[in-house]
Amino acid sequence: MSLASQLYRLQTTELQMREKRRVLKETAARLNHNADLTAAEEELASLASRLEVARKHQRKLEWEVDDLNTKIRGLNDKLYGGSVRNPKELVSLEQDVQSIKRHLAGKEEQLIEAMDVTESIDAEAEVLRQKVATLKAAWEQERPGLQELKDSTEAEVTRLTEAVLTMRDAIGPERAQHYDRLAAAKGVAMVKVEQGRCKGCNLTVPAGLWQRARVGDMVECGSCGRLLYVE
Ligand SMILES: [Zn+2]
Repeated sequence: MSLASQLYRLQTTELQMREKRRVLKETAARLNHNADLTAAEEELASLASRLEVARKHQRKLEWEVDDLNTKIRGLNDKLYGGSVRNPKELVSLEQDVQSIKRHLAGKEEQLIEAMDVTESIDAEAEVLRQKVATLKAAWEQERPGLQELKDSTEAEVTRLTEAVLTMRDAIGPERAQHYDRLAAAKGVAMVKVEQGRCKGCNLTVPAGLWQRARVGDMVECGSCGRLLYVE
């Protein structure tokens, strides 16, 4: 095999290897992390803490309402129990009852609002819980396939890496370095010549040059500097 063919094959194999490494990285990331699921779980967690706060607030209002009702019952007992006979005292008791009742009405209104809030957060959380469950189930279903893809891609990467090492050995360090420098500077080091044109810069390659390339010499394109490969 000519040197140009060897280098072209090296380039093709390295591009494949790079692509497989990209797939491997992406697959491993998807296998370890499900962004949608994590986001839904985080949202659910924040909703759960909001729900906790709302429930606490509701319970506090329930206690306050209970407390006020107890107070009213106590005052009514006094008012109608017959133990208090002084008219002034009775009037003042009546005023107390009315004042507490007004206070109670306000608290009851707050309680109804609080219950609405709790209920709506709870409903939101329920929707989210279902979403999390669906995402989890889908991911569990997807994971074995991802694992398989990861394993097979890993094997491919190993195979391609070994192939690249073997090819580089055959090419020799000096020529491989030349190729690496070109690849680093220009993205790809080797370009095909098709219909007399360099596929790297699309300019016409003098016949003498591409004929030398066809024989397999390391020939650079006069305009873009990449190594020419003629099939
Ligand atoms: Zn060129």
